[in-house]
Amino acid sequence: MFIGHFGVGLGAKKAAPRVSLGTLFLAAQFLDLLWPTFLLIGIERVAINPPGTSHVPLDFTYYPWSHSLVMVLLWSLVVGGIYYAVRRNARGAIVLGALVLSHWVLDLFVHHADLPLAPGGATFAGWALWDYPALELPIELAIFLIGLIVYQRTTTPRDRTGKLALLVLTVFLVAVHLANVLGPPPPSVEAIAWVGQSQWLIVALGYWVDRHRVPRVNSVEAPLPNKSTVH
Ligand SMILES: [Zn+2]
Repeated sequence: MFIGHFGVGLGAKKAAPRVSLGTLFLAAQFLDLLWPTFLLIGIERVAINPPGTSHVPLDFTYYPWSHSLVMVLLWSLVVGGIYYAVRRNARGAIVLGALVLSHWVLDLFVHHADLPLAPGGATFAGWALWDYPALELPIELAIFLIGLIVYQRTTTPRDRTGKLALLVLTVFLVAVHLANVLGPPPPSVEAIAWVGQSQWLIVALGYWVDRHRVPRVNSVEAPLPNKSTVH
């Protein structure tokens, strides 16, 4: 699951219009943003499946710190909590916490039974939709498309860049997704980790797009001027 997570981030703009798309992406993809760093420092592990053995090139052998349910609930509190401490926006904090958790729920549908419930535990979950690419791919693309439409309708371009930036982001995400699906398996675990780190660029793209678009007035939560004074 790649582009589906970003679809959920885009769609969440309707629930929390004052939160930047970059922050929504950060939360929706938080577990997969931690994962490459955890691989590089050696506290999590992944194996590359030999070609022809699986639809999925990767075997997620050990990732309890980024992807166990117990840790995910903790990360969800951390992300929501930090946002609340900085912005004092309860709705935004709840939406961001829910986004962190949404990542695990989407992963639960597609991963093989390799998602731990708790670090050190022996129970793993995963419903393996990845084994049915004819089903998984359209569902994931649909999640992305719905999220994109919701974001596009919740916001309006502030300037010409606002229109262009959303198009650039869309083309970039679709291209990366197709490369993931159609491309050759990664050459090494280190390569996986560094490609994973490049997802921070997508977070940055999210901030860029959002800076050039404003929430529409009739959004669930009316856009407020920057409340920089903390009482
Ligand atoms: Zn994941």
